[in-house]
Amino acid sequence: DISLKQRLLSGSPLFSIEFFPPKTDASAEQLLRTAEALKAYAPDFASITYGAGGSTRSRTLKYARHLREDYGYAVMPHLTCVGHSRDELRGIIAEFRDAGLGQIMALRGDPPKGESNFKPHPDGLHYANELVNLIHETYPECTVGVAGYPEMHPEAPTADADLVNLKRKVDSGAHFVTTQLFFDNEKYFSFVKRAREAGIKIPILPGLMCISSREQALRFCDMCGTTIPSELEQRLLSAANDAKAVEAVGTSWVFEQARELLDRGAPGIHLYILNRKGPAVELMKQLKNAGYYQA
Ligand code: FAD
Repeated sequence: DISLKQRLLSGSPLFSIEFFPPKTDASAEQLLRTAEALKAYAPDFASITYGAGGSTRSRTLKYARHLREDYGYAVMPHLTCVGHSRDELRGIIAEFRDAGLGQIMALRGDPPKGESNFKPHPDGLHYANELVNLIHETYPECTVGVAGYPEMHPEAPTADADLVNLKRKVDSGAHFVTTQLFFDNEKYFSFVKRAREAGIKIPILPGLMCISSREQALRFCDMCGTTIPSELEQRLLSAANDAKAVEAVGTSWVFEQARELLDRGAPGIHLYILNRKGPAVELMKQLKNAGYYQA
């Protein structure tokens, strides 16, 4: 797993997929079926999210282990500062290290449901850059990813202030950035340009999501401040309540996005797959057939 750092420097596009830790037996089966199906495409790594309020600590580790040991993925667990003291965070980082997980996505996290402001644990961390430092202290060999926001983090006062924060995370030793989801590539290209001008040199991996429900997409976009281009909105409206048609719109949009991003020099693609097999397999197949993906 440690080779992700070298892989990032290799220059050939990197493909990664993101799972979330399931809560029920049925959703666990869904994750494992998807993991099995995507193995054939040998993504560079699979990331697994960390839930609100530290609630998924054990599930994140459990599925990270499962994906690594039973399916052979290089796994990047996410970790957030929410609800944890520094000592607890050190303990979790050590657990990830001892499970052979060579990379961690370092995040501040969102406030728990019902709270609007992030309140750090009394002996905890305020911002993700502090977590990057803590990971380096506890597990120096770890490859560390951080989040970037092409359309600005919703709490940031300005896009420039948000970029200063990203630079702080990079200066703390992050090795790469994964972006928040976006549907308009120009947002990514202008973000990367501004980041380069601000002296951020590490790879910025674009995060893309296959829409499978218009309502869900609108909800996500509303939550994280992502714009839905009017052309995509029109296509989704035309697909109306036909689930298969909506999925086809979502997959073809992401394929076109991925194609342009890779053609214009993006270092790879990170796919928010929401544990769903169909769109992810379809997209990987299309990227492989088009020669972007050598699995
Ligand atoms: P930070 O980088 O700490 O930034 C948070 C806010 O504080 C920003 O507005 C920033 O501009 C500001 N800020 C930072 N430092 C300073 C400072 N020193 N002074 C003043 N302002 C500052 N959430 C989860 O709960 N679990 C997950 O697994 C998860 N995975 C994610 C993966 C990706 C790729 C992305 C993009 C997001 C993910 N999130 C996840 C959501 C994330 O936790 C939220 O967006 C959260 O609100 C911010 O996290 P951050 O790490 O970007 O925070």
